[in-house]
Amino acid sequence: MRIADRWFEATRVDDTITMLREPYLHPVWQSNIWHVRGRHHDLLVDTGMGIGRLAEALRDVADKPLIAVATHRHADHMGGLHEFPIRLAHAADAADIESPGTFASLITADYPAEFVKFMESDGSPAGPELIDAYPYEGFDPRQYSVLPAPPTTIVDEGDVIDLGDRAFVVLHLPGHTPGSIGLWDQRSGTLFSGDAIYDGPLYDFLPESNIPDYLATMRRLRDLPADVVHGGHDGSFGRARLVELVDGYLEWRAAKAV
Ligand SMILES: [Zn+2]
Ligand SMILES: [Zn+2]
Repeated sequence: MRIADRWFEATRVDDTITMLREPYLHPVWQSNIWHVRGRHHDLLVDTGMGIGRLAEALRDVADKPLIAVATHRHADHMGGLHEFPIRLAHAADAADIESPGTFASLITADYPAEFVKFMESDGSPAGPELIDAYPYEGFDPRQYSVLPAPPTTIVDEGDVIDLGDRAFVVLHLPGHTPGSIGLWDQRSGTLFSGDAIYDGPLYDFLPESNIPDYLATMRRLRDLPADVVHGGHDGSFGRARLVELVDGYLEWRAAKAV
């Protein structure tokens, strides 16, 4: 297996925001990692799978003490959280972040056949391993596991994460998981939404999901005056697309319930 030049692919979104992705990982597991530069602190929204060394990859962009936030408990969002000394999460997902409850392996044969079929359903075949490069010499995919990352601070609705020159309010957005959160900067109209909403198929059917909660979260998001939404997966979008995605979900759910 070849070694990736850079495990993380970084894209500069604007003067303060950088997005990182893991391009050598199977697309079903690829999530967005967001770095926000602040005056006194930098913010990290989610941390990917924990395959490559994220703190090292961030050395070029991060020059302040880093506040790392897990938008929720899933391995593809909190896998790298253990690398960072300041770790924030919601109480309802904290136990699963402290002691990872989402199974994740890089070996395709470790998954049930139905799940492999699901992973391949978007047209991306799963090889024997879910990565097509290694992050560094000596990496062994069979040794991969999601490492515990006990949150150092529990956050809830209304808490403020202050970076010095900008601040994010924590929105509790349950449904995808009980402890899903978003980070809202009212001044710039920017929302980091985790897996509560993104421009792709939404998961409200997991064992830890709750559909009534998800419906309430979506109605709430519809009323949020967001100019830009940076989600846990897929591309960012503006207010019109936000409303479209919410309405699409609500209609799809209503049709399914009949
Ligand atoms: Zn998720
Ligand atoms: Zn996700």
